[in-house]
Amino acid sequence: MIDIILVLNAGSSSIKFRVFEVGAGMKLAMRGQVDGLYTKASFRVVDPQGEVTRTELQPPDGGELGHEGAIAHIGDFLRGHGEGYSVVAVGHRVVHGGQHFTSAVLATPAVVDELDKLSPLAPLHQPHNLAPIRIIHRRRPELPQVACFDTAFHRNQPEVAQAYALPASITDLGVRRYGFHGLSYEYIASVLADYSPVAAAGRTVVAHLGNGASMCAMVGGRSVASTMGFTAVDGLPMGTRCGNLDPGVILYLIDALGMDTRGVADLIYRQSGLLGVSGVSSDMRELLHSDDANARAAVDLFVYRIARELGSLVAAMGGIDALVFTAGIGENASAVRKRVASLVGWCGLDLDDVANEAGGPCISKPGSRVGGWVIPTDEESMIARQTMALMG
Ligand code: ADP
Repeated sequence: MIDIILVLNAGSSSIKFRVFEVGAGMKLAMRGQVDGLYTKASFRVVDPQGEVTRTELQPPDGGELGHEGAIAHIGDFLRGHGEGYSVVAVGHRVVHGGQHFTSAVLATPAVVDELDKLSPLAPLHQPHNLAPIRIIHRRRPELPQVACFDTAFHRNQPEVAQAYALPASITDLGVRRYGFHGLSYEYIASVLADYSPVAAAGRTVVAHLGNGASMCAMVGGRSVASTMGFTAVDGLPMGTRCGNLDPGVILYLIDALGMDTRGVADLIYRQSGLLGVSGVSSDMRELLHSDDANARAAVDLFVYRIARELGSLVAAMGGIDALVFTAGIGENASAVRKRVASLVGWCGLDLDDVANEAGGPCISKPGSRVGGWVIPTDEESMIARQTMALMG
């Protein structure tokens, strides 16, 4: 048997997993995914030989697999694989750690109950992140599980960066800016010096542009400001989330259009962003290939908002030394990077078009005052590291 750390990233309809071998310096051994938990379930794994295995999963009663069935399937698969994997700890991505969880924590049943109270703040993610922890508690109560948070990296931001201008009685309830994508930012901070000592020690904005999108201002590798706030719907427009919105719009939707809170939540989380503006797709690849005027408008707005937010983050840091692009769009969409760079040239970023087309990692010209970088993120490695650190 080979000792492993299992990393789980569970959503509403899928569970992604990664296997890290403990004895081999936390080597990634395989990654996989169960999709269609509540529709037609399938299992896909890319094993160490790079071989892709794909199977349809049929629950015995012909119903839905659900989170429970998916966890059982992953467990059976790992035990039966090759020499057999023995899980020594499970690290979970948990989107919200609230005010009190400022670093990864052993996810005891009491801790999970505490974290569940934050579910209303991240309804798309938190309940699904917690479901596998509870399932594993039932199946293997002795197995250590660790919750790793997307909010923790931002918890040491200056108080002023976390505050809303609301009465203290509301702020005291925990209504403050939390910021998300912290596992991604922490990973980038941990590897930044390998790319650029100046960026690692100085003032750097990291743009995590995926289906979810946000930006973080870091000074010396520590978060000082971010575009996301109380929930992960704030800041940049995203695949289906609207991003920054005048709170008056919400009042208008309710009072003048008669929408209920469920309808508003569906609108701002699932029907807006790139999808809402384009009416075509939430997928940047499709929008970049489309001739549709609304698809172009969606990309225009996305790029414009990134440039506006960059100005705000530069102000929070009192200047900028480097801009890093990461995640699906940031790592792959050279056209988006080029358009952002053309809007933020004022800050001193001189883009090298050839390097940008080639995907970097350095995408700024040698004499550029601000360094431009493309750095692949790896949230799962961060979870594995945090889990290992907590297990000693
Ligand atoms: P998630 O937030 O779900 O992890 P990802 O980081 O995988 O999302 O990013 C998904 C986004 O990245 C999608 O909008 C997708 O279209 C975009 N993307 C991925 N590859 C490319 C590419 N080659 N060109 C443009 N966009 C891309």
